[in-house]
Amino acid sequence: MRLEFYIICNIVQGDKMKFIVMLLCAGLCASASAAKQAKNIIMVVGDGMGPSYTTAYRYFADDKTTPEVENTVFDRLLVGMASTNPHQVTGYVTDSAAGATALATGVKTYNEAIGVDHTKLPVQNVIEWAKMQGMKTGVAVTSQINHATPAAFTTHNESRHNYNDIADNYYDQKIGGQFTLDVMLGGGWDFFIREDRNLVEEFKQAGYQYIDSPEQLDSTDKTKALLGLFAKVGLPTALDTKNKQRLPALTKTAIKHLENEQGFFLLVEASQVDWAGHGNDIAAAMAEMHDLALTLEWLESYLQKHPDTLLVVTADHSTGGMSIGADDNYSWSPQWLTQLKLSPQSIAKQLVLSKDKGELASELLGFELNIEEVNRLESMDTGQANDFYIVLKTLLDKRSNTGWTTRGHTGIDVPVFAKGPGSEMFRGFQDNTQIAERIFSLLGKK
Ligand code: MG
Ligand code: ZN
Repeated sequence: MRLEFYIICNIVQGDKMKFIVMLLCAGLCASASAAKQAKNIIMVVGDGMGPSYTTAYRYFADDKTTPEVENTVFDRLLVGMASTNPHQVTGYVTDSAAGATALATGVKTYNEAIGVDHTKLPVQNVIEWAKMQGMKTGVAVTSQINHATPAAFTTHNESRHNYNDIADNYYDQKIGGQFTLDVMLGGGWDFFIREDRNLVEEFKQAGYQYIDSPEQLDSTDKTKALLGLFAKVGLPTALDTKNKQRLPALTKTAIKHLENEQGFFLLVEASQVDWAGHGNDIAAAMAEMHDLALTLEWLESYLQKHPDTLLVVTADHSTGGMSIGADDNYSWSPQWLTQLKLSPQSIAKQLVLSKDKGELASELLGFELNIEEVNRLESMDTGQANDFYIVLKTLLDKRSNTGWTTRGHTGIDVPVFAKGPGSEMFRGFQDNTQIAERIFSLLGKK
């Protein structure tokens, strides 16, 4: 529309005519850009989801009966890349606090900072701004709801480790007399139900509906603000969740409560991709990616029905230096990661107590172990589940030929995905702070 405007104005000669055309075009251009403005914004963060995770997930999800490798929802939505480096006082490798602060406020800061700049001054986040515009706001995450990512999108603290203070802020911080968040879904009993303060009771007194079991997600009263806490800290891992629809269920309920005339801003986080990466646990990582892929597929269909909604997806950093192939061996075999009945961590706990470790491991991993693998497990002389966990992860890394370079984060760029009105703004390379700047501008902040 803008291009046409310039072309028309440049070819019209008479000044009067030019002026009329300019007015006409200005009106058209204004209405076109207004129509393009998203009413709702859904931001999804895959914590720790660097490009090796989205690529590995494509091979993991590949239909092995066809010669081609099928595209995933990530491939369909991809629009660009983003840098991840925090403020230079920290260096080039970010943590989730500084990463989320950049994505939520447009300000780079030091690692561990929650919504404060490198001098520890609070900086406004997109949720606070959305709330000031009269929109509804929410977070739906698989970590505790006061973990680094949702915290930096919601509030301010000099350290991510001040979990109780951050939980208190969720109640105490008001935007124009209102609570910052209308919907909070995730884990966190340990921080919201404490001896010194029961924030769940306080939210209930303030009119929030409270649920503490995922089974209740389908039957909430959508006219009410909602607090749903489903675990002491983080939610059980995707592999250990009976209903394999974990993050999709949280996302659907959050949106049900947030939909309204003024629009909404929702932060969804696949928090535990990062935790699997820290654990160098490829089976858990692929299961968390699958939970996120199902969420994005559902959001794709939501956008079809709600073309006024913008979806922006990215990661804060990559975790574990995960590599698709290892040890000079040109192969990757994700088929060994598809039949697990439980997470490797939970399987390890069962192996400690088992007499027939080889057989139990085979059953729970979903494939026949070879003699070497059985002997390795049977010969273990330990009561420590963690020792079994390490052996299982090594076994799965060897079978799949997955590599890891660190237990921490890496400084690689991350993919950016977007769909809906305004999605073209996220194309190409961008700094992570520009993602926040673009969301602010789509929400009308000058
Ligand atoms: Mg996080
Ligand atoms: Zn991490």
